[in-house]
Amino acid sequence: MAGTVSSTKTPPWSLCTEPAVFHDKRTGRHLCRDHFISDVESRVAETIRGRRLIVPGDHVVIALSGGKDSTALLMILARLLPALEGVTLSAFTIDEGIHGYREDTIRSADELVKKYRLTHTMISFPDLFGGTLDVFLEGREPEACSICGILRRKALNVGAERAGATKLATGHNLDDEAQSVFMNVLRGDLPRLLRDSGSDSQGRFIPRIKPLMFISEKEIAVYLMLHGAWADLPECPYAVHALRGEVRRMLAVLESKHPGTMLHLMESRAQIEAHCDGSLVAEPMRHCAECGDPCSGEICQLCNLKKTL
Ligand code: SF4
Ligand code: ZN
Repeated sequence: MAGTVSSTKTPPWSLCTEPAVFHDKRTGRHLCRDHFISDVESRVAETIRGRRLIVPGDHVVIALSGGKDSTALLMILARLLPALEGVTLSAFTIDEGIHGYREDTIRSADELVKKYRLTHTMISFPDLFGGTLDVFLEGREPEACSICGILRRKALNVGAERAGATKLATGHNLDDEAQSVFMNVLRGDLPRLLRDSGSDSQGRFIPRIKPLMFISEKEIAVYLMLHGAWADLPECPYAVHALRGEVRRMLAVLESKHPGTMLHLMESRAQIEAHCDGSLVAEPMRHCAECGDPCSGEICQLCNLKKTL
């Protein structure tokens, strides 16, 4: 991890004399509560500004799972909102139907939107696909995340469209992004590696933005704790089957031993992107022969999957 919670009072790299709450191992800085919060928020603001993720007049809908990342995303965007000219914020939550997991996060999402007085809509797998993820995965647990990913992608697009949004914001953080870079390298999937660097819509869907892409999981946890918004929510029971889980553990060890590893993975992706001419990611725009959704083949992944559910 890039940083650790620290109780050191006046270490050499403190920005002030207030007690430090966070030690950033990568830069050596020790940050007090106020400096830590403003550092996180200003880095998110810089990501939004530098990458033009949000522009005046945008309606940004947050894909709010109620988990740590999307909760922090909502809190930070709500805080930055006055500086974002004419921008509207709303949220929607997807209920995949995962017993023993989603109930708590949905309750948490509901409390949050009430507190911030945001428009909030719910989308459920039974409504969209005629059944819960639990039912679809019976006997197919090892495929959980690929099946869920295809269904969630559709649900995200439907949620953003129903909200009338111009941007769809997700809570992907630095750890998620670094894991994705590593996983795509492990799979030998360079086009996917490049597509993941920003919006994967290629003009086909409502653009997705990841304002927390340079904020680590650890920083998000500390940010929530400092705001009294930390909740020990359950993990998705299917996560144990994912390659991501193994990559996550491996990168956490590497980051702890070699602070900056995750940022270096992001930099590698940026360098590859800078040296590619775009032909690797450009796919011909087609429409699914069955549902009409934009896709790259004859039949979209969702229609293919539906035949097997
Ligand atoms: Fe879906 Fe996998 Fe995430 Fe669970 S861990 S919500 S199955 S993508
Ligand atoms: Zn289709």
